[in-house]
Amino acid sequence: MTHGFQTSPWALRWDTLDLSALDRTESIFALSNGHIGMRGTLEEGEPRGVPGTYLNGLYERHPLPYAEAGYGYPEDGQTVVNVTDGKIIRLLVQDEPLDMRYGRAVEHHRVLDFRSGTLRRDTVWESPTGRRVRVRTERLVSFTQRAVAAIRYEVEPLDGDIQLVVQSDLLANEPIDSASKDPRVGAALEAPLVSEDVSAGDLYAVLIHQTRRSKLRVAAAMNHEIETVDGLQCEMHVEDDLARLTAAVDVPSGARLVLTKYIGYGWSSRRSAPALRSQVSAAMAGAKQTGWHGLLAEQRAYLDDFWATADVEIEGDDELQQAVRFGLFHILQAGARGESRAIPAKGLTGPGYDGHSFWDSETFVLPVLTYTVPEAARDALRWRHASLPKARERAEALGLRGAAFPWRSIDGAECSAYWPAGTGAFHVSADVSDAVARYLDATGDEDFERDHATEILVETARLWRSLGHHDVHGGFRIDGVTGPDEYTAVVDNNVYTNLMAQRNLREAAAVCSRQPDVAFALGVTDEEIAAWQEAAAKMVVPYDEMLGVHPQSERFTQHAPWDFENTPQEDYPLLLHYPYFDLYRKQVVKQADLVMAMYLRGDAFTPEQKVRNVDYYEPLTVRDSSLSACVQAVMAAEVGYLDLAYDYFAEAALTDLHDLHANVRNGLHIASLAGAWMVAVAGFGGMRDHSDSLTFAPRLPSALTRIAFRLTYRESRFAVEIDQSSASYTLLDGPSLTVQHHGAPVELTKGTTERRPIPTIEPREAPSQPKGREPRRRTPKIIGDPG
Ligand code: BGC
Repeated sequence: MTHGFQTSPWALRWDTLDLSALDRTESIFALSNGHIGMRGTLEEGEPRGVPGTYLNGLYERHPLPYAEAGYGYPEDGQTVVNVTDGKIIRLLVQDEPLDMRYGRAVEHHRVLDFRSGTLRRDTVWESPTGRRVRVRTERLVSFTQRAVAAIRYEVEPLDGDIQLVVQSDLLANEPIDSASKDPRVGAALEAPLVSEDVSAGDLYAVLIHQTRRSKLRVAAAMNHEIETVDGLQCEMHVEDDLARLTAAVDVPSGARLVLTKYIGYGWSSRRSAPALRSQVSAAMAGAKQTGWHGLLAEQRAYLDDFWATADVEIEGDDELQQAVRFGLFHILQAGARGESRAIPAKGLTGPGYDGHSFWDSETFVLPVLTYTVPEAARDALRWRHASLPKARERAEALGLRGAAFPWRSIDGAECSAYWPAGTGAFHVSADVSDAVARYLDATGDEDFERDHATEILVETARLWRSLGHHDVHGGFRIDGVTGPDEYTAVVDNNVYTNLMAQRNLREAAAVCSRQPDVAFALGVTDEEIAAWQEAAAKMVVPYDEMLGVHPQSERFTQHAPWDFENTPQEDYPLLLHYPYFDLYRKQVVKQADLVMAMYLRGDAFTPEQKVRNVDYYEPLTVRDSSLSACVQAVMAAEVGYLDLAYDYFAEAALTDLHDLHANVRNGLHIASLAGAWMVAVAGFGGMRDHSDSLTFAPRLPSALTRIAFRLTYRESRFAVEIDQSSASYTLLDGPSLTVQHHGAPVELTKGTTERRPIPTIEPREAPSQPKGREPRRRTPKIIGDPG
């Protein structure tokens, strides 16, 4: 057991009743399909940490406060709304409410099952007056029926006949308290839902609300099936913000009460209340027709498929095996059925970051989805395409051409109130275009290229061409922007930004030659394409000749070093303890920036430069962002610091399970979970996708005996298995394919496994990190180890 969870390969089991940990388990046990998200609260609603039910894209607007006005500041913020809660099922045991704070939990465990896609609970509770009942629940948010969630609630008296009363609710405007002063925590909004309509039948109810300011309409429905002994009395009660089914029955010893609750959601900015009511009613009818067992079977089949194409196996560290699957499960949950909506940084697991999406989605999450569930990657990119009008408006407001995608947003409009680490991080537009190019390369999806990709690539290329300029020496400079490292802001020629923009410009030129008609319709001329190519060819990439390293942006290596020796541990994250002006003018790196450039644009660096740069930036990088460890792991692995990469692997994979940033109550760090996949596949598998074919350079750290993963690439599905001395490649389905293994081509044809030796490397001592910021040295955890 570690941090309260039992180690097992396909599930996450929590055996204790530690009420102080409820808020973090609610994030970890959240269920979602990318459209609906439900935190893992206890059915009885209390005790609770942060209740939460979210619908992707549904937000409330609020004014953004500025002490001083400035041109181009976004006026409105957006915050994800806790919508009508359908999870609540209360129980009265012979007139005493089941409440885990009172009486005694004789047994209690909860299991998140990665293969069934459900959250199960098994509680034996003894009431303060000594009555015992067993409560078993199982819930799912359906991957196959996007608007549907369901809960099976079963109560069994353990001490003779007993009266049971169950109350099943739909509750709107649940009060929520925001406990943190951390500016990153989403602003909680009070009572954001205005009632529009209620309707009910015997076992059925629908509540329709509209958000107060953003005017988005949401319908929530519930329907029930009850199996029990004779004598059941049911009553439905509805008011504006509450629908409640009350079911009472005397249950003799040996019998049970089993309630199945189907919950349906729909929201829209345009549809009328009657239309939404019809929509959720239809979803409920579909769910009831499929039935609980049918929903379970569909969920299992969906996940069987997913694991057959996406599983990652880790041998030598059982806890990391579990953590990697936990991460993949949550990534699927975040992206599976978003369907042209964004993937927020927290998925739909909590209110953190106001429910906004960032570059996290394109740069961390979409690579996983592109090679495992490509349709989900496409859908998330369609959201970016749909938001192009807003991105164009933003560019225009800034006096630029093309499209400037927002740093953070729910509906596509910029919501960052802090320029230097907001709009200033223009790289997000190149990150979007990079994800588009990766998706096109991996799938050859011509429809997407014609209908969506070309426009995104063209508009982002236009942005770069207008944001940068040729200096007197001819070099193309991009000045006054912020790279991934938010402790260095508004700088000139950030290497990451420039190299990603360079690729963006080249991809735009290439797509225009493949899609001349679309390019013509977008007004692209030969001169414009030539200008993009010229800018890309002349892109400035600063280099410090004396130190033999790349400054992450101009003059970075000339800045004063940060005084790590005298920075106490409790002062991290630094942004909450030191003024930005001081962070900005010193050499201290929040998160991989130049090192990130070496991963995504590895083609722009020599192997020697990579080693020197890793050695230079490791001692400066404090990892105050959860997006850093995985990237540092990938580059540490590439340059041969495999055991350091392994430590970072554990940090990325266990960010949430070990609550390493002490904020998991606000939601999971989806990018870091994706980062665990990234370390397995791009770090120890050495996979890169910046040449014509996929290339691999596998190499394991000493603690692991085997890593295996599966990828989908251009209609082929193949498996890679790595041990300490060799790697094998097996084509599972689809046409033959050539990949590279440590620089040599490997032809994959159906039915054969190609095994290749792994070249040995000279061990070198890994660089150090800032004092106190070393990753925890990892000792592998095997099932059965004490925690
Ligand atoms: C990081 C950003 C990231 C955001 C959301 C910040 O702390 O610095 O890179 O996009 O969190 O995860």
